[in-house]
Amino acid sequence: MRYIMLGSGAVRDNPNRGGPSQLLQIGNENWMFDCGRSACTNLARAGVNCEDVDRLFLTHLHFDHIVDVPYLVFVGWVKVRKKPLKIYGPVGTKHFVSHVIRPPFEQDIQSRIGHGKDDSVLDPEVIEIEEKGEFLSTDDFQLSTTFTDHGGIPTLVYRIDTKDHRVVITGDGNPDAEFSAFCQNADLLSIECSGTAEFLATQPWGSWHITPPEIAEIATEANVKRVIIKHLVIEDITGDLQAVHRMGDQIRKEYGGEVMVGEDGLVINL
Ligand SMILES: [Zn+2]
Repeated sequence: MRYIMLGSGAVRDNPNRGGPSQLLQIGNENWMFDCGRSACTNLARAGVNCEDVDRLFLTHLHFDHIVDVPYLVFVGWVKVRKKPLKIYGPVGTKHFVSHVIRPPFEQDIQSRIGHGKDDSVLDPEVIEIEEKGEFLSTDDFQLSTTFTDHGGIPTLVYRIDTKDHRVVITGDGNPDAEFSAFCQNADLLSIECSGTAEFLATQPWGSWHITPPEIAEIATEANVKRVIIKHLVIEDITGDLQAVHRMGDQIRKEYGGEVMVGEDGLVINL
């Protein structure tokens, strides 16, 4: 299994950090988690074609996590995707996908169909997840979700279990009291860390996010082996490029496992 951080940034147009997105390669499948700004370009940098993404898991519908979805769908279609992309996400994902693919691009679609293009694999298959727990299981893997409290919108965390590994990938937000149990013994916890507690306290949206000491507490309680932080908003707002490393140090102070600060293109082999 291989984890690739495609985009370690968030809302703002930081040229060095793409919007939220990551890739998990399991067996022959490519799974993308969130699809923010520049996700598809970073996917290409990782050597993966848009049409070869089998499943896309959306954590929530804040624009910074989903703004590259039409590009992923259209370039995959144009380059001849073999089967429809499967998109998983919270309630509202069907509405989002049904409005962002066909209606604004009708002229484009019709012109391509007029030139012989088949549109049978254009529309993604959308699966909305309404409840926490296991939602997909095969002989090779189990996928489960739980929710975080984030800006008043449904926000999912995904857990991937294979025979040998457990990986947890968060969106944004504050987890509930059962989150440590959800992450128990994970090999990797990929978690948002938008700023220090002091910085978040100064932002109107700060309470939507978890703090470094809280991450340390969860990772310790859950006996997580490795943590990677992402959604590194503080850098964009303060201009302080060392802030993210101080956040990493804050987590290390209270947690004995490995802590990595996200960078676009960073690869973790599990
Ligand atoms: Zn968000």
